[in-house]
Amino acid sequence: MTPTEVRQLLVELDLRPSKALGQNFLIDGNVLEIIAREADVRSQETILEIGPGLGALTVKLADRADKVIAIEKDGRLANFIRQRYPEVELIHGDACKVELPACDKVVANLPYSISTAILERFVEGAAPPRRLVLTVQKEVALRLAARPRHKDYGALTLFTQLRYHVTVVHVVSPRCFIPAPNVESAIVALDRREPRVLLAPGAPFHQLVRQGFQQRRKMLRKLLGIADEVLDGVGAVPTARAEELSLEQWIGVANALRESTPADGAQ
Ligand code: SAM
Repeated sequence: MTPTEVRQLLVELDLRPSKALGQNFLIDGNVLEIIAREADVRSQETILEIGPGLGALTVKLADRADKVIAIEKDGRLANFIRQRYPEVELIHGDACKVELPACDKVVANLPYSISTAILERFVEGAAPPRRLVLTVQKEVALRLAARPRHKDYGALTLFTQLRYHVTVVHVVSPRCFIPAPNVESAIVALDRREPRVLLAPGAPFHQLVRQGFQQRRKMLRKLLGIADEVLDGVGAVPTARAEELSLEQWIGVANALRESTPADGAQ
């Protein structure tokens, strides 16, 4: 969608982009092509788009997929998409609240303020999609892809990497949007995978990680009372802090703590 087309549509729809709804519309053909290429849509797939807006991405997805479902919170944009793209199944609602439909892939240029809330719904949900191609604030992209001991490494990193391999595909300049946001964005691709160490059912992974990163510089043995043998069992030093443990080590700790409790009704 060109800048002129976006401006014309905004006038036609009598719509002033809402900051609260993160309405920064993509106007860069190159960026739209990169997202479409990364989505790698196959004809038999169901694609879910969050926030179709004026349809810049929607049209590319609908051209390629058997089925596109889109969730849009803004009623005026939801009506517009319904009329312009009747082949798209439009859900008028809040992507943080509505029941998420089953899909193969998710493609979205997410509103900044709710990007992590929406992401968490997918990565922690019961049926995580095979691939997500998301445009998010650059800082969020770096958190998703971070490695241990890096300042960006945290609970969001581990919850995402537990189920997905993360690739930062492309940094997107504010100039690629109308209106231009104050920050840089990045396109990230998340591919479903199994971690090298499997998480045992009932292992308290999320709880431990969340607590561990509440004070990321504090030693885990003091913060969470994790025994030296447990840390040693995953190859970590007794003085280890949350940010020093790899995904596999966190899984190992969660598995060990599950095994050491009298779970499953055992006497
Ligand atoms: N996909 C379009 C594009 O790339 O030009 C628009 C992207 S714009 C960054 C974000 C879109 O998400 C807007 O259309 C906005 O109305 C919509 N939106 C904001 N909050 C939402 C929510 N909670 N649920 C669903 N859509 C939302």
